[in-house]
Amino acid sequence: MSETKMKVQMPSDAAFILNKLNEGGHEAYIVGGCVRDSILGRIPQDWDITTSALPEETKTFFDHTFDTGIQHGTITVVLHKENYEVTTYRVDGEYADCRHPDEVSFTKNLTEDLLRRDFTMNAIAYHPNEGFRDPFHGQEDIAAEIIRGVGDPPKRFQEDALRMLRCVRFAAQLGFAIEPETWAALCANTALIQKISVERIREELEKLWLSPYKEKMSLLWESGLLAQIDPILSARLIGRSQTILDEISACPKDALLRWAVVLQDYTPDEAKNFLKGMKFDNHTLKRVCLLLEQLKNDVPTEAYPLRKLAGTIGEDAMKELLTLQSILRPDSPHEESKALFEKILTDGDCLTLKTMELSGKDLMAMGAPHGKVLGEVLAELLDMVLQVPETNKKEILSDKALSLLKEKGLI
Ligand code: ATP
Ligand code: MG
Repeated sequence: MSETKMKVQMPSDAAFILNKLNEGGHEAYIVGGCVRDSILGRIPQDWDITTSALPEETKTFFDHTFDTGIQHGTITVVLHKENYEVTTYRVDGEYADCRHPDEVSFTKNLTEDLLRRDFTMNAIAYHPNEGFRDPFHGQEDIAAEIIRGVGDPPKRFQEDALRMLRCVRFAAQLGFAIEPETWAALCANTALIQKISVERIREELEKLWLSPYKEKMSLLWESGLLAQIDPILSARLIGRSQTILDEISACPKDALLRWAVVLQDYTPDEAKNFLKGMKFDNHTLKRVCLLLEQLKNDVPTEAYPLRKLAGTIGEDAMKELLTLQSILRPDSPHEESKALFEKILTDGDCLTLKTMELSGKDLMAMGAPHGKVLGEVLAELLDMVLQVPETNKKEILSDKALSLLKEKGLI
């Protein structure tokens, strides 16, 4: 089947939206990522619609809508709990800040709307009755596996610098080559990335690290983009480019773990500063720093220190640490640690006070005073249990507690 005759299987609700708008006398197409992904045989994440109807007009056709970015012409239509973004054909004005157009104006011309989009593969519209509307030959570029800027590439990156990161990310997601003029324009405009918010940069980088085509990831530093985002990270990755790419792709598809791989040469303090600067959430920040700190040493291969460490950092962090160690330090005895940790989990060994058979309350019932010493006694009891898991029995712990309390003159 030739590309132009191919049919896109869209959800019936998307077809319903197109139909409603058409019945009201408006043009409407599915557009962008969903059309690109359908052509590629990938499952689209969301189905965006572009229409000649104005936002206020669009709203009249559907029972449940809400304003998403009404100033940019986007409203969301909700059907069967799914959201569909419906955007009015639009022409973007000047971009003084390299990210947001100063003004947008609506148009009745589909080609003008497609012209404002970033890459030819993302500038294809589709309607079940009309087939593809593809004035910039996006289908040919998809078939040739090429990412090409729509129109004048330097201008497009200057308008919105985020497109440079999208370009590299799409290359790594799809395994496509970047067309030479588009690549030259990207390399010439990397400094503009500094105008983009760290949150947007972080989201794109994260998508990049999770992409399947590792050999394309290095375009991030080969283009000079990463040096503009973080010169230290760029220098470190350039220094060991191939190894780092192998390590990233050997890592499970988990953003946090892949960030830890990327930042592996950072001291925990350096990593903290980097992650803070990129406005990471607290959990990621703490966990990545913890993993980097722990990676300095081998994970123990003996039961007592391994239980102790697992109790301190937690079961999930322990699993992540073992995964990272196997990737980043393959010569370490990670297999032994892993097998031992699995046994510890299967045996259900007590690792923390939470699962110890004697609690602070029990100690107070035995006459122990409230306060710091109580904590010390509990810690000693836990240490005994960590050394000999079989001692996690109420009678044994009570006996030991009594003698400890007496020893300390507390009862
Ligand atoms: P994905 O959702 O897989 O990241 P996508 O292409 O669907 O990829 P979205 O951010 O969902 O990306 O955007 C939908 C469409 O909007 C794109 O396909 C493109 O046509 C257009 N678009 C998105 N961001 C930009 C941008 N920065 N500049 C120009 N057009 C854009
Ligand atoms: Mg999308």
